[in-house]
Amino acid sequence: MKKLFFSFLITAVILNLFGCSSPKQKETNEKAALHSTDSSHRSPRPVHWGYHGDDGPEHWAALSPVYAACGEGKTQSPIDIQESGTTTGSVWNLEYKNTSVRIAYNEHMNEIIDNGHTIQASVDEGSSLRYGNKTYQLKQFHFHTPSEHTLDGEHLPMEMHMVHQASDGSLAVIGVFFVEGKKANENFNKIISYLPDEKGESIHNASDSLSIRLHIPTDHHAYHYIGSLTTPPCTENVQWLILKEKISLTTDQIKAFSSRIGPNNRPTQPLNKRSVELDELKESN
Ligand SMILES: [Zn+2]
Repeated sequence: MKKLFFSFLITAVILNLFGCSSPKQKETNEKAALHSTDSSHRSPRPVHWGYHGDDGPEHWAALSPVYAACGEGKTQSPIDIQESGTTTGSVWNLEYKNTSVRIAYNEHMNEIIDNGHTIQASVDEGSSLRYGNKTYQLKQFHFHTPSEHTLDGEHLPMEMHMVHQASDGSLAVIGVFFVEGKKANENFNKIISYLPDEKGESIHNASDSLSIRLHIPTDHHAYHYIGSLTTPPCTENVQWLILKEKISLTTDQIKAFSSRIGPNNRPTQPLNKRSVELDELKESN
């Protein structure tokens, strides 16, 4: 029972931290967290973690009890995807709207889940992903260089994570791989022009609209499996959809991201009998 309460508490804290894309929102969420837990059980501030040395991925579980799943979890992410090993799966419904862009370059864990060390774009409400009766709202997207998931054992130069959350707090992430090509991808130039240079810097242009649909591939077949956040606290039961088609950017475009954030990939984790389905995302607008 005590264990159950503890895991509930961790979940509550995680969900309150999740989505804290602006200082104002963060303040509100922290207030909500204080109301939902009494002071004697309040969780400590998340511990700093990184990608190298003493606070690197192999040490995450030891840094804080809140990060235990990073070591003990049996359904962790990322994984190696074996293209030949997938089974045919289900259909998801995708509805992406235009949004203003709010791009932040964050270093510390307490700013948001899954963007401790990345460039993240927060989006306006209204874009969603539906699976059966459950609707996940798109909250933010961010980048990893090189890719976190591997394809038949190989890393790709970059991976984008589109993070969605349902009203019950559960998460679904669409992953998109990037490859190097000769032609510049015009759709990404706008995002690149907004990339902050300094950690902690945030750029918001409410008047400029971004069509997120243009930032994902046209073929919507996706590898689907159940995994976790790829950063502490490595929370499990995350629905992962990794798009099969890749986006091509020039070497310079990829460098605009990798020079700021890379390397920020967690090593691949054991599959542990999980299956990977080939699902399809259908656009409904
Ligand atoms: Zn990520």
